[in-house]
Amino acid sequence: MSITEAKYIWRDGQIVPWAEATTHVLSHGLHYGTAMFEGIRVYDTPDGPCGFRLNEHISRLFSSARMYAMQIPYTEEQLVDACHQMVRMNNLTSAYLRPIAFYGYGEIGVAPGPDAPVNVAIAAFPWGAYLGEAGRADGVDVCISSWRRPAPGTIPMAAKAAGNYLSGFLISREAKRNGYAEGIALDVDGRLSEGAGENLFIVQGKTLYTPPASSSILSGITRDSVIVLAKKMGLKVREQPLPREMLYVADELFFTGTAAEITPIKSVDGTPTRVTACGPITRALQNQFFGLFNGSTKDSENWLEPIRNTQLQEVSNVA
Ligand code: PMP
Repeated sequence: MSITEAKYIWRDGQIVPWAEATTHVLSHGLHYGTAMFEGIRVYDTPDGPCGFRLNEHISRLFSSARMYAMQIPYTEEQLVDACHQMVRMNNLTSAYLRPIAFYGYGEIGVAPGPDAPVNVAIAAFPWGAYLGEAGRADGVDVCISSWRRPAPGTIPMAAKAAGNYLSGFLISREAKRNGYAEGIALDVDGRLSEGAGENLFIVQGKTLYTPPASSSILSGITRDSVIVLAKKMGLKVREQPLPREMLYVADELFFTGTAAEITPIKSVDGTPTRVTACGPITRALQNQFFGLFNGSTKDSENWLEPIRNTQLQEVSNVA
């Protein structure tokens, strides 16, 4: 899916026109994958545009940076404010926000010193269903990847770091080349891990199973939201190591993620789920989740953050 251009991007404290938000080719992050980023959705709700768990996403950005000793030269509040500003300045009512912090231009060694520059940018643009509208409604066909997720103690999968997405690239590309919408990776022990950019849930009766943090996953914020909603609906939730074969006998399966939201999985390696297409539990969870954004689900956890009418800053570099 290609990017739909918006007007402005926040870069290092300045608001610059979209086309001018460029960086030097010798930036450290470009060479070594030392960039931390987030994906955040803004939904058009009856109360106006609202960021979904915006603060938690920005907190995770700072946690990812900590794992790589990266000092982001702004506070969490400043970056949250900048997210609000980007939605407003680009006149968006629903959006995908992409904050990124990366080691910049100045050093070329693998491990940059404490004075290495850290650049931060935030873009906001419209984005539809990640695995397609039809996929989100009726489910996608997926496969198990021949690529495993990195083993514990190799590279922290809990960081949302650019370098980790080389793994996601291989998983996703292999799946697409073989005619599937997405691939699911196993961890180093052959247990279920996650999709290239999504967490995985199995529905068996009235219980949801999902791989734990120790199975080389990114602990998704959507995953956490679904766990909270499912418990409220009276479902049991088990986070535990899971064998691959559970996929082939599952009642229902689905992915979660900011981009994928809740996307049903209708088959794995050509084996359909027992309840075909989008099953009743997945549909009920979708209704609860998307209900947060049309007002039919009460936002009792205060996950929605109304986008503020921020004071528009002087725009630099605009002709
Ligand atoms: N796993 C990976 C590898 C991801 O890239 C994402 C998307 N950020 C997720 C899981 C889901 O995380 P979240 O729900 O926080 O978007």
